Amino acid sequence: MLKTLQDLLQLQELDRRSIQLRKDLDDLPSRKDRTRLRLQDREEAFQKAEAAWKQESLEIKKIEMDIDEAKENIRRFRQQQFEVKTNEGYKTLLHEIEVASKKIRDLEDAELERMEKAEQFKEALTKARREVDEERIRVERECAEMDQRAAAVQQELAGIEADRAARSTGIDEQWMGRYNRIMKHVGDAAIVPVDHGTCGGCHMKLPPQVVHDTRRADAITACTFCGRMLYWRE
Ligand SMILES: [Zn+2]
Repeated sequence: MLKTLQDLLQLQELDRRSIQLRKDLDDLPSRKDRTRLRLQDREEAFQKAEAAWKQESLEIKKIEMDIDEAKENIRRFRQQQFEVKTNEGYKTLLHEIEVASKKIRDLEDAELERMEKAEQFKEALTKARREVDEERIRVERECAEMDQRAAAVQQELAGIEADRAARSTGIDEQWMGRYNRIMKHVGDAAIVPVDHGTCGGCHMKLPPQVVHDTRRADAITACTFCGRMLYWRE
């Protein structure tokens, strides 16, 4: 194989690694966003659980106020019983007291039911809180790991860049320029093997002459369709 082609192939190894690493870096923000979204989901679940519990507590307070009001009414009716002049009036008050007492019993039953429900909501809330805390730790750890990985990738990229610069100086400028142009244009590989008579880049069937010339390897050949440089792989 031609020395220039060999040098360019080694350069291409570096470039391909570099492309992959840069892609990793580009993906990082969206990967972090997705990770943080998991925490957001947990936080929303917690807020829902909290709202449910608060609502239930509010309902209990309302019932307690109604009970207090009914008790206050009974107290007033009893007071009136001392002042009432007629038997009929006394009876009416007695009836009012019975009605209010029955109302209190019903309210107390309802309160007990709601208190049991509130207890369950409270447990769900505690669980949701714990899940938020656990998820936060996980998410922070994963994001920190991603940052560490990004720093390592940056370092590797810097190394690759230095290596590339050093290797480039030994390569003919004209071929270097051609390689760079193709690489920029196709984005994946400027030099590809001939693969069963087809171009290893665009997979088009190559003219026999191009295949022949590539195999002889006394000059750099290119795919007639995509322009990628070709080499013969034994
Ligand atoms: Zn091609």
